[in-house]
Amino acid sequence: MTVCPHPDFDAEVDVNRLEDIGAFTADVRIRCIACGEPFAFVGIPAGLSSDGPRVSVSGLEVHLPLRPVSAGLGNPTPYGFSVTAVGGGGTNATAGESGPHRHVVERRRGIA
Ligand SMILES: [Zn+2]
Repeated sequence: MTVCPHPDFDAEVDVNRLEDIGAFTADVRIRCIACGEPFAFVGIPAGLSSDGPRVSVSGLEVHLPLRPVSAGLGNPTPYGFSVTAVGGGGTNATAGESGPHRHVVERRRGIA
């Protein structure tokens, strides 16, 4: 049995209007096209919330709260930006590194 390198992906997105609370969500699922294996979302708590992302109990579907840009994002926006990769020699590893490592590429807050 060969291990699929998961070369291509299929993403399903359902955008929902929650009329009773005047909110919107996007529900996203990702699957490898080559082998059909679903992907689980990592580091997101399970449940439903209009305040932030949540995943299904299985972790295979992420529920993302949305709002139209015209509704405003606040000033400053609530968004920071950071890139963190934790792994054991995967594709993000620098040549010569081995074993678990962490890369924090950038961390800023309050950018548009
Ligand atoms: Zn695959």
